[in-house]
Amino acid sequence: MSTDRVPHLESLARAVTSCRACPRLVAWREQVAREKRAAFRDEEYWGRPVPGFGDPQARVVIVGLAPAAHGANRTGRMFTGDRSGDWLYASLFRTGFANQPTSVSADDGLELTGAWITAPVRCAPPQNRPTVEERDRCAPFLAEELDLVPWRVAVALGGYGWDAVLRATGWEGRKPVFGHGAEAPLPGGAVLLGSYHVSQQNTFTGRLTEEMLDAVFARAAALAGRGRPDTAPAVHEHRRT
Ligand code: SF4
Repeated sequence: MSTDRVPHLESLARAVTSCRACPRLVAWREQVAREKRAAFRDEEYWGRPVPGFGDPQARVVIVGLAPAAHGANRTGRMFTGDRSGDWLYASLFRTGFANQPTSVSADDGLELTGAWITAPVRCAPPQNRPTVEERDRCAPFLAEELDLVPWRVAVALGGYGWDAVLRATGWEGRKPVFGHGAEAPLPGGAVLLGSYHVSQQNTFTGRLTEEMLDAVFARAAALAGRGRPDTAPAVHEHRRT
C-alpha cells in the first residue's frame, strides 16, 4: 500500500464527514436520522456526509449518486444497509472485488480489493434528487478523490454517476451516451463503463439482472488489468502529464 495516499484519503474523509455546506441536505439527513424508519428505531443513524470506501490502491472506482436515507445515511458506509447495497456487494463478491457478499454495517468485516466506491453527492437528498447547486458544491470532493485513488476504470452506476465522472475528468465537447455496458475513453487511457443503477426500481423489475451487473464488473476487472497492479499505470499520473 502506498504510504502517502492513505493519510490524504483519511484527511479527505474527515473533510467530507464534517461538511455542512448545503443547508437543505444537512436538514434532511439529520431529520431522517432523528425520525428513523421503524425497523431501525433502536439504531443510531450516522446522519452525516458519507466518505468513499474501499481499497486505496484501487484500479476501479464505482460512482453512484448519493447515500440512501436509511442505507448509507444510517450506517455511514457507501451502499451499506439497504437492498441496493445487497445487489452491489454480492456482485463485487462474485467478481472478486469483495471478501464477502453482504454489507450490513460499517463494522461487518467487509473489505474491498481493487475497488473504491464513492458518489458525486455525499449527503442523502430528498427523493434522491440533489439540486444542481448541491451537486456542484459537492463536486470538489469527488475530484480530489479521483486524484488520490490510482484508478484506471470508472464504473458509473446510472447516468448521474456517468455525467459526474465526465465532469470530474474535464470532458469537453459532445458527451458519450450512457447505457448499460457502454464504454467511453477518458483522458490518460482510462475508461468509463456504464451500468444501470442497482436501485430497487431496476433490480425488482428485471431491468438489471445479476448477470448484467457481473458482466460489467468482470469487464472492469479485465480493463483494469487486475492481477497485474504493478504494471497498470495510474490514471491521475497520466492526467497530470
Ligand atoms: S452534499 Fe456535499 S457539499 Fe453538500 S453538505 Fe453534503 S458533503 Fe457538503
